[in-house]
Amino acid sequence: MGAITLKEVEKWFGEAQVIKGIDLEISDGEFVVFVGPSGCGKSTLLRMIGGLEDTSRGAISIDGRDVTDQPPSKRGLAMVFQSYALYPHMSVAENMGFSLKMAGAPEAEWRAKVSAASEILKLDPYLDRRPKDLSGGQRQRVAIGRSIVRDPTAFLFDEPLSNLDAALRVEMRLEIARLHRKLHRTMIYVTHDQVEAMTLADRIVVLEYGRIAQVGSPRELYERPANLFVAQFIGSPK
Ligand code: ADP
Ligand code: MG
Repeated sequence: MGAITLKEVEKWFGEAQVIKGIDLEISDGEFVVFVGPSGCGKSTLLRMIGGLEDTSRGAISIDGRDVTDQPPSKRGLAMVFQSYALYPHMSVAENMGFSLKMAGAPEAEWRAKVSAASEILKLDPYLDRRPKDLSGGQRQRVAIGRSIVRDPTAFLFDEPLSNLDAALRVEMRLEIARLHRKLHRTMIYVTHDQVEAMTLADRIVVLEYGRIAQVGSPRELYERPANLFVAQFIGSPK
């Protein structure tokens, strides 16, 4: 599970085409990073995979199942954004278990899943606290924890660290790498930060005005950038 395929995917907003003929196969368990300058279509492409934007043309499938016209709830994916709205009146445990509770899970079941997720994220000591009594990094962990409890097929991250200060960004980047090693789940991660891309990715997809400029491992992109755009973006000596 967790293999995601895009076939000739396009997105138009009115007359403007912002995603142009994207073909991409992501393997189960792979960590894929979408990079590119602001406005190149990273968020739109991610939101299309998650089902938050419809697909104008082409097809998206997950594990061989065509989900192009399926709503987000039928895709089994979890999305983590830069702005993570936690419920202020609920404890950390209740925040993390809320979606399971709403889906009808008995208390013992959602508590058990919250407990397993909090262990992975080192949130155990904070389960009874309110969001206001947590640090920025801890809140971001709760937001990630909320998605882990639902046992998604894949995680979609849209610049999840961009609101954090530099030190915390480094810490959370290591945390996300650790999470990937631990869960072995497919992760698609959007960033405009080259360091995040180079250190997290199995493969990097460089987007340029809605097209794929190059796909490859961080090393391939660094050593053999396809063109000047990729070279400049990745920072290779070309
Ligand atoms: P990125 O995440 O790489 O910064 P986006 O995917 O947010 O880029 O945006 C890609 C392009 O699509 C931009 O030109 C943006 O203005 C445009 N765009 C994004 N969302 C909408 C929308 N809902 N309506 C019209 N244009 C949009
Ligand atoms: Mg974006």
